[in-house]
Amino acid sequence: MRLSVRFSVIALLATAMVPLYATTLLTHARIHTMDPDRPVATALAWGDDGKLLAVGEAADLIKRYPEASTVDAQGGIVVPGLIDAHGHLLGLGILSNQVDLVGSKTKAEAIERLKAWAVKLPPDAWLIGRGWDQNRWPEKSFPSAADLDKAFPERPVYLERVDGHAVWVNSAAMKRAKRALDGDWQPEGGRIQRLGSKASGVLIDSAQALVRDAMPPLTPQQTRDAYRHAFADAVAAGLTGVHDAGVSLDDFKQLQALASAGEIPLRLYEMADGNNAALEWLCQQGGHWTDPSGRLRMHAVKLYMDGALGSRGAALLTDYNDDHGNRGIFVTSPEAYRTAVEKAHRCQAQVATHAIGDRGNRTVLDTYQAVLGKDAANDNRWRVEHAQIVALEDIPRFAQLRLIASMQPTHATSDMPWAEQRLGVARLKGAYAWQRFIHERVPLAFGSDFPVESVNPMLGMYAAVTRQDLSGQPPGGWFPDQRVSRIQALAGFTRGAAYAAFMEAEVGMLKPGLRADFVILNGDPLTVAPREIADLKPLSTWVDGKAVYRAPQKNGATP
Ligand SMILES: [Zn+2]
Repeated sequence: MRLSVRFSVIALLATAMVPLYATTLLTHARIHTMDPDRPVATALAWGDDGKLLAVGEAADLIKRYPEASTVDAQGGIVVPGLIDAHGHLLGLGILSNQVDLVGSKTKAEAIERLKAWAVKLPPDAWLIGRGWDQNRWPEKSFPSAADLDKAFPERPVYLERVDGHAVWVNSAAMKRAKRALDGDWQPEGGRIQRLGSKASGVLIDSAQALVRDAMPPLTPQQTRDAYRHAFADAVAAGLTGVHDAGVSLDDFKQLQALASAGEIPLRLYEMADGNNAALEWLCQQGGHWTDPSGRLRMHAVKLYMDGALGSRGAALLTDYNDDHGNRGIFVTSPEAYRTAVEKAHRCQAQVATHAIGDRGNRTVLDTYQAVLGKDAANDNRWRVEHAQIVALEDIPRFAQLRLIASMQPTHATSDMPWAEQRLGVARLKGAYAWQRFIHERVPLAFGSDFPVESVNPMLGMYAAVTRQDLSGQPPGGWFPDQRVSRIQALAGFTRGAAYAAFMEAEVGMLKPGLRADFVILNGDPLTVAPREIADLKPLSTWVDGKAVYRAPQKNGATP
């Protein structure tokens, strides 16, 4: 009896000294944990299950884990893995098959880029591009099919505007639409731009589908390849998580195949694309589905209320300042929208709704309030995606309904050159009003809306902290009272994004028990000069304690 007790004590001691699993220790780092109880540290230890065992000082942890294999961070700065709370993975992935029109300064320049690309295409293939923005061109007006027809009389051309809420197409593409675009009819939730009764070649919001539906769909193989491209871009940017804002059931099946094959290097939080097959499937799963590796989950539905500001599709309470009589559009009718929200509520799925204009946001708030009823007091964490222009009196309602504002700092700095023309100065008080949401204690989650904006979260950090463009304009920042602190910006891309996906017990901080998801950066986002935040680069990106990305380096190994 006595012997066996002593034996088990010895066995216990042996277990404590030599863990049954391998431990890895990261040292020579400055670590911002985002854990309020221990904001800074110099070392991390994790087990081979990918969970953090300890966060602390290197000297202590080396003593505690003498057998651990070590990773030398070479003086790098470690932050929790960055999470983009609103991106479009497939959209990012297919960029490699599309003409990049971002930054074209004239229509002619855009057409030159298209011509250069078309040389590589088979003769009957669609020419697909994205990223044009008429606000950057001298004439500032929408382009037309005629602009494209001279260069592309036969080949269909389909070009998404930078915000994804309008397309510019040529006559060959319009000819392929099932219904003739000329006439005086308009689709629900969209607009066909016309000159007289003739479609001019720009299709807004739901009208895009009239031509898009005529395009050959991606094959499953092309879909998986596009996702692989997107994963590689995301981890190279320091992202360990993405909230994927709208996935069809077919595309989700390809993601499941990639997850089963162990090919997803970061954590994906998927939102079903509207009141469609993916939501139906999610409801059959009880509103929540996670794959065994924890890399792929679905628990949300992404709905659309209105359009976007650049294409004047954002639904406003009063007329556009630069287009009298126009108050924007609802992409979904309020009745159909409410039906979808009710369905998601019954299924216990999280609702995330795109709302840009103050009328769009108000309708979302009214609907959430009506559908949640007393349940609003519970932890539903429904989200408003963008929450871009909100009437000041509506901001406290986000807190009352316990909602999350999922906002994209780079949208503010991209839109600031022309937002005042669209909205007038008075409405700008509630536009991109991050600090007003924080003041009302509304949880913020930050993202980029890639590929609308760059996937690089450091650009979001920079925009959030400065409200300036990359050349430092305007001096002091655009409505500088709405800038956020560096910690608030980093929280938006870590803790805040984790909370918005119900994942705060797993990620968003570096703390024992949570996942060893982190990034080693080449500089400190909390101390470098503001402009330098935009240039910070990941040296390596880690998920579940394993490097999923290492920056190429000329000399020596990357930490
Ligand atoms: Zn989006």
